[in-house]
Amino acid sequence: MPSPSSLRCPRCLSPVSLGSLAPLGLRGFVISDTLNLGLECEHCGAKLRVIRTRLYVARGILLALSFFGLRGLVSLKNKGHLDAIEQLELLCLPIALVGALVLQTLTPNLLRLRLVGPGEAIAFAAGTPKADEDAAPGWICPKCHEKNPENFEICWKCEHARRKGSGI
Ligand SMILES: [Zn+2]
Ligand SMILES: [Zn+2]
Repeated sequence: MPSPSSLRCPRCLSPVSLGSLAPLGLRGFVISDTLNLGLECEHCGAKLRVIRTRLYVARGILLALSFFGLRGLVSLKNKGHLDAIEQLELLCLPIALVGALVLQTLTPNLLRLRLVGPGEAIAFAAGTPKADEDAAPGWICPKCHEKNPENFEICWKCEHARRKGSGI
């Protein structure tokens, strides 16, 4: 049985917490529904991609169980009684419900992390890592020395106009 800290950074092997992804209530949705979900190791700064294959397999099984369970429920409603197979189907429903609850707590154990490859597009739920922001194209305000995005014509901080001819 893996411990809750089994999610480790592949570069520095420190435990990686999912707490930075989203508040507890929303975390499950962010983890399962964000495309190319990534996070940053808070120890070494490595950019990591969240691999969710096993989570999706577990969710698929639960979905199948609820499908059978609902079918059993419909048979019960229509006929008033169930044969042996339909009873088994109905039994799938509570199993699916319990499974869904267990999945919530087991989610970190079903995830894997790997280092993000060069040029790989990753969605960081916790916001763009600082290193990426610094590397993005842009210009430095000559007055206040703040960094501005490439498409800004005046400095976001002091509203100083961009010096034409510099960096263009
Ligand atoms: Zn690390
Ligand atoms: Zn400025």
